[in-house]
This record gives sequence, structure tokens and C-alpha cells, in this order.
Amino acid sequence: MQLGRTLEWTAARFPERTGFAGERRMTYQEWDGRTNQIANALSSAGIRRGDRVATFLANTEVMASTHLALQKLGVMSTPLNIRLSPPELAYCLDDAEPSLVITDDHARKVAQAALGQSRYSPRVLHAGSSPVEGAKEFETLVAQADSSAPGIAVEESDPSVMLYTSGTTGKPKGVPRTQRNEYAASVAHIMQCQYAYGEATLGAMPMYHTMGLRSLLSMVVIGGKFVELPAYEARRALELIVSEGISALYLVPTAYWALAQTGELGRISSTVKKLAFAGAPMTSALCEKLIAELKPEVFVNHYGSSEIYTFSIEEDATRKPGCAGRAGLHSRLMVVDPQTESGHRQLPVGEVGEIVASLESDESFQGYWKRPDADAKSLRSGWYHTGDLGHLDEDGDLWVDGRVDDMIITGGENVHPVEVEDVLSHHPEIAEVTVVGLQDEKWGQAVTAFVVLHDETKDAAALAEEIREWAGTEAPLSPYKRPKRVHIVNAIPKSPVGKILRRKLVAGEAGEYESRNSNP
Ligand code: ATP
Repeated sequence: MQLGRTLEWTAARFPERTGFAGERRMTYQEWDGRTNQIANALSSAGIRRGDRVATFLANTEVMASTHLALQKLGVMSTPLNIRLSPPELAYCLDDAEPSLVITDDHARKVAQAALGQSRYSPRVLHAGSSPVEGAKEFETLVAQADSSAPGIAVEESDPSVMLYTSGTTGKPKGVPRTQRNEYAASVAHIMQCQYAYGEATLGAMPMYHTMGLRSLLSMVVIGGKFVELPAYEARRALELIVSEGISALYLVPTAYWALAQTGELGRISSTVKKLAFAGAPMTSALCEKLIAELKPEVFVNHYGSSEIYTFSIEEDATRKPGCAGRAGLHSRLMVVDPQTESGHRQLPVGEVGEIVASLESDESFQGYWKRPDADAKSLRSGWYHTGDLGHLDEDGDLWVDGRVDDMIITGGENVHPVEVEDVLSHHPEIAEVTVVGLQDEKWGQAVTAFVVLHDETKDAAALAEEIREWAGTEAPLSPYKRPKRVHIVNAIPKSPVGKILRRKLVAGEAGEYESRNSNP
């Protein structure tokens, strides 16, 4: 399992194949040479095996190639989310203490501000035309470097990457992952998504997230084509799928939703054959739409995280829409009572509990970066506590019922937002829906639906009432699960990777998330 040498070996097998397609186009041989040059340039700048290098980069060739070059050096690549605020980024810098930071023109402003606020002052390289203050020019250094292999003996226990969790529950946490973890995850991804040699995928998910890295590394392992998409935009994605012949997609459900919203899925139905989603559950309405319009040969639901890449896989998401299937290639899972401190025991079929995953997986991290408190909470007796609720059905298949923290307790009953969202997503006027529990004098928490309409010009107040009634009459929701309130909004708040930020709705943030109807 030599992640560091994978690109070199793939280049030896398929020198002439296109590896990277974007503003810069490279065969595997060229890509290997380019990453050698970056690795040698960083070595000449004093970067050594075991060091950390942070990147503030858009989803471009520089990001992909730098990440691969760092693997060749046994250096911990620390890709930071450039859409975080400067104080959040400064926090990550202080936490990671990298020897070097690499930025680009896209990240210039936020990088400058974050570096200004950080207690730590690393050296900075800038890839682009308007460098941050005090930075050296990245490409000049790279151009001066040799393109032969850096010849560093990298081992599978060497660091590969540190991903920062999105920080929805407190400060972002660093998730250090070894080369072994990353290689195992990439091979599992290839097998689980049934990739074949010469597959082509879109680099649509950010490479500071586990999904973006998987798209990149799975292509490098298999000799596929990785197509650059610096910022996700559905129409641009459609164009690239057609022009580059993208055969496999790996996206969060909201990115598929945006593709479907263009009304032009038909344009890509003969090109894209393999679909996979991860990061969040997909509503059955969207699932059905994708099946009907794209008729995929493979449609995979991948359930996992930054900490352990795969928890489970449903290899055929059309079989039981919403189901998360069975443990992945390297995984072992259980659903346990979240209240029980020790003695993990599988709950009986149908009972909802916390999903835990074995830390023995080759894909699994072994603890957070400098966070013994988080380790004590999440890593217990060899099991990683996902913070997700789930249950097993009679066939032994896993269902993810949402986050432990998102569960709504209304009048003493537990309601899982995902179940209500799934039912409401079938209402013909609803484009997007998110359900949260809002404080309520009578119910403790009231089941509340935030809805984006297909047609924004329709009467919000009348439709909110209509949806509430529909949930009681047409939809099979038990009375306590029906939304007490429906708010029509212009948008649902999402994280940069496209995950829904329920906390913003709970906090009642103003602006585009504000209710357009006053439904008592
Ligand atoms: P978080 O969402 O916890 O703030 P994050 O954005 O940093 O984390 P991840 O590590 O990718 O990134 O998030 C993992 C979590 O995403 C899982 O624990 C689960 O809650 C959710 N998730 C991932 N894949 C799926 C899926 N296929 N179905 C349902 N939920 C999923």
C-alpha cells in the first residue's frame, strides 16, 4: 500500500493516458513529472518527511498536484477550507502548526486575513499573480526544480493528510490520516463504486473534504481521468460531463439536486453510467428522479466520514431507496444504545441506536489531532462513535436515521427529521425541505419544516397550510411526526460541501432563510 508511489506506478503503466484535464492538461507521465517537480521544489524549501504543509487553495490543478507531491515526500498535506472565516482558518493554522502554507489568487484575501490573525507565522508560497504579503512565488520555485522522482522512502504508516471536520459541533477537529488509510479508502471506493480502468470523474467535491480526495486518488490508482472543476456550478458541471466524457460521479445529494434543477439531465444520460452519493441522505424523490432520467448502471449510497472513510455501502441505491446497506470492504459496524458507556452490544432489529464503527479498519484514523477530550468522547473500546442514529432491518441492512443531536423530541416522542423530510419531498410543490425541532412551550420541540418551492411566485401562506394538511391526509406520517409549522424560505443554509446546516434554521437566522409566511 504505497500511496506515495501510486502516481509513479500508474504513470509507468499508462504513460500516454490523460490523467488530469482542466486549464492544464496532462498525461500520467506529465502529471508524474509535474508532481516530482513540486516535491523537489518543496524539498529545496526545507520541507521534510513528517512535516505538515497547509494549503489554502481552490479546487484546481495546483491543489491536486501539490497534494500528490506531498504524498511522495511523506508530508502531511493539510488542505484548509477557504470558505471558512479568517478566525476559523487562523484557529486551524495555530492548531496544525504547518511548516509552510501554500495559497493562490482565489484564497488570497482570506489567507492574508487568517495569517494576520494567527499566533503562528509560517512561511508562505503563493501560486498566482497577486501574492499575499511576504510570500514567495510557487511556480518559479517549481520551474527551477528537477522532474525526477524525489526518492524519499515513504512508509504506509507515514502521514498522508489532516482533514478538518466542519466544526458543526464546536471547534474544527483535525483528523490525521496515514498513507495506509488513504490508499485503503481509495481502493475500497474503486471497488464499491465498481470503477473500471480508464474511468473519468469530475473533481467537483472540494479536496479539503474526504470526498474530493477520494475522487482524485481513486482516479490516480486506476489510471482514470480527473477533470478539474474549481467551483461547483451545475451548468458548468453538465458541460464538462459532456465534453470530457465523464463516466462516474461522486457528489453530495445537494450537488445532484442542483444538476436536476437545471432540467437538463437528459443531456448527460448517455455519458454518465455510474452514480455515487455520500455526505448526507438522499431523499427518495431525488433518488427516483435520477433513476428515471439518468438510468444509471451503478447507483451507490456511500455512508462514511472523514474519520473512517467507509462505514457502509448500499451498492444498489435503487433497491431500497434511503437504505445504507452493509458494512464496507474494510468495515465492521454495530448499532448500540447511546446511553451505555461501555460493553458495546448490537441492538435488536428495528431498534434505533447510535452507529459505531470498528477502529480496526485500514480506512480508520486512530485519534484526533491534539484533542484527548474528543478522543475520549468518540473512541471507546476500539469503536468509533459516529454520532449518527440508525437501525438494522430484518435483512441486516443499515438505515441512517440522522444525527443524535438532530433528533427532535416532541411531546415526549422521538422524531427523526430525515424520515419527515423524505415524506415531504414527494409533495409536488416542494423543491427542497429541511425539518428541525424548534423550542415550543407546549411540545418542548415542535416539528418544523423549512421549504423551498419550485415556483417562488406562489402564495407562501396558502401553500404552507396546504403542505401541512397534505402531511396529515395524503402522506403516511403519524400525527406526532407531522410538521406543526411550515416555513416557506428562499434557500436552505448549506456548508461549503453542500451539507444542510440545521443549526442555522434552529437559530432563526435572518435573510434568505427567513420565513415568507407567518404560520403560527
Ligand atoms: P459533519 O457533517 O459531522 O459536521 P463533516 O462535514 O466534517 O462532518 P464528514 O466526516 O464527511 O464531514 O461527515 C460525516 C457525517 O455525514 C456522517 O457521520 C453522517 O452524519 C453524514 N453522512 C455521510 N454519508 C452519509 C450517507 N450516505 N447517508 C446519511 N448520512 C451520511
